[in-house]
Amino acid sequence: MLKPRNSLLPVILLSLCCLARAPLCRVEAAGADPARRVAPVPHSGLIESVPAKYRERYLAWKNDLLSTESGRVQWEAYTSNPRFTLTVVISNDDRHGAGTGSYKWSDSGELVAATITLGNRIDEGYPNPIYYPVMYSLAPLSESFPIEGHVLAAAKMAHELGHVKQAASTSGELYKLQNQLMPVYNQTLLSNGRDTHDKRLTELAHQMGGTPVQIWENREYWGEVNAMLYLRERFTDEEQQRAFFTRVRRTVELYAKDYAERFELVTQ
Ligand SMILES: [Zn+2]
Repeated sequence: MLKPRNSLLPVILLSLCCLARAPLCRVEAAGADPARRVAPVPHSGLIESVPAKYRERYLAWKNDLLSTESGRVQWEAYTSNPRFTLTVVISNDDRHGAGTGSYKWSDSGELVAATITLGNRIDEGYPNPIYYPVMYSLAPLSESFPIEGHVLAAAKMAHELGHVKQAASTSGELYKLQNQLMPVYNQTLLSNGRDTHDKRLTELAHQMGGTPVQIWENREYWGEVNAMLYLRERFTDEEQQRAFFTRVRRTVELYAKDYAERFELVTQ
């Protein structure tokens, strides 16, 4: 499969961008009864907005994530953080997908809030290899090594936590500027016959620090690195771990070669 850098696919993918998904309101609109959810912690720390009917599976996914040190350390850092609010929502929309958004920054530019939205069946559905080389690699691996438990769901949660981590380490001004200008770039690209040499586009890319595809890749691959941190601990069988690393390296080589270095750091 060719990486669609010059086709419309990146634009379409961007329009489905997991970073732009609606937060809590979508769950409310889906008819969940707020009174039956896990009681939220007010103001800061971790808020889990999980309809009662999904609570059992959500806890199983979360426990799988927390069975690794990397998952536990990250999760606990949010649970006890008085300066940051992480909201986790389970949604009926996009059942196999997940997304992170509703970022908020303080006046001093510090990231103070984010919302992770998880589909209600994230334990199913392997994402595409182009932007998700780590999670995708679980699918072929499962043919030779049955993957136990809720590994796929917990990997998706780790991927989203990677987005929060990446956003926290990026300047708030730049992050907001990128989110504001990416749709402008895509609109212009669609209206100019997809001429990427258009001066308006090169100027926008200069302002944003990359094209929307490059920004998207950077964000997604940091999410994937975080999923990898969880998975390399989760696979305790050496042979399984080695086979998985080989799959990931091969997929990265095919689709994310420019970013191989960041994956190498976690597949050694
Ligand atoms: Zn993502």
